[in-house]
Amino acid sequence: AYNFAPGPAALPESVLKQAQADMLEWGTAGASIVEMSHRGPEFMEVAARAEADLRTLLGVPADYAVLFLPGGATTAQALLPLNFAAPGATVDYVVTGHWGKTALRQLTPAVTANIAASGEPDGFRNIPARDTWRLTPGAAYVHITANETIHGVEYRPAWGEPAPETGDVPLFADFSSSIASEPIDITRYGVIYAGAQKNLGPVGISVVIVRRELLERTGQPRADIFNYGSQLAHDSMLNTPPTWNWYMAGLVFRWMLDEGGTPEFDRRSDEKAALLYGAIDGSGGFYRNDVDPAVRSRMNIPFFLAEDAHNAVFLDGAREAGLIGLKGHRVLGGMRASIYNAMPVDGVRALVAYMQDFQKRHG
Ligand code: PLP
Repeated sequence: AYNFAPGPAALPESVLKQAQADMLEWGTAGASIVEMSHRGPEFMEVAARAEADLRTLLGVPADYAVLFLPGGATTAQALLPLNFAAPGATVDYVVTGHWGKTALRQLTPAVTANIAASGEPDGFRNIPARDTWRLTPGAAYVHITANETIHGVEYRPAWGEPAPETGDVPLFADFSSSIASEPIDITRYGVIYAGAQKNLGPVGISVVIVRRELLERTGQPRADIFNYGSQLAHDSMLNTPPTWNWYMAGLVFRWMLDEGGTPEFDRRSDEKAALLYGAIDGSGGFYRNDVDPAVRSRMNIPFFLAEDAHNAVFLDGAREAGLIGLKGHRVLGGMRASIYNAMPVDGVRALVAYMQDFQKRHG
């Protein structure tokens, strides 16, 4: 089946097959990859290779650290203020959908949140224009969500690739659902973080890329395990890391490099998004996406049928046609197609063909 689920999401078939073999026996080690000590030479090599490949894939400069940490993007949202905002500091949030709001809720009470801009009054159909943002001079950082997975709103190139200008205040970006989908200039960000379960591998691990000098900030009192500086000093192995997830992410990084890296996924994302938005916009109102075309996500495409009564039969038929994971998030209803890097163009073609056929039968 073609899996359009938002995360956990589809993984490349070749990666799953490799993982299947290594689950039984890792090379000639006589044991499964999940049975290996994280301190042993075999796993150390897996971990180092994963980091090296991610650095190559994303063009991470040497003055940025890469952490592989257990937990998801929400965990990172809670740890960022603890690590980078001093007691009494203000963090600026630009809220462009559900996950930006989630980030706000993870803030420690010792830090003040300023909602510098929010797309909520407009139903999260747009990103508030940069000149309307009320940023705080001297804020600890500005937090954005590069791609809103539920609302389907993404900072597209008109926003400056896609990092908005924030002057001297470092920009922190949740890239959970769009990391590695296009080349980006890491130096425009203080921190980039992503839960793995969309573009990077199975759920359970997240990647945090930090400008090293920021790790010198005092932050909030916190346990060692929540301290990014300590994690870095221990190569993200302060305690037993999620070895399986780390290894799987490494396979996905290698697959992405072999496929042509971020320039190729950028090209494919353009092609896939154009096909699907074209089908929606060309349906004469049978299907609808409400997001401003300038900030439409290429990764997550929510769409609605004109008649809600058709939803269940649309989903049943899709499943029978081998198109799964299309049910929209409960916050929005309707449908959502998540078309991350592992979704082939043919999967989107199959979805478009099904949508057009469904319209013929029910329009
Ligand atoms: N941020 C974004 C953009 C997401 O899409 C998600 C989950 O879908 C999250 C944060 C939360 O991630 P997690 O469930 O890994 O904590």
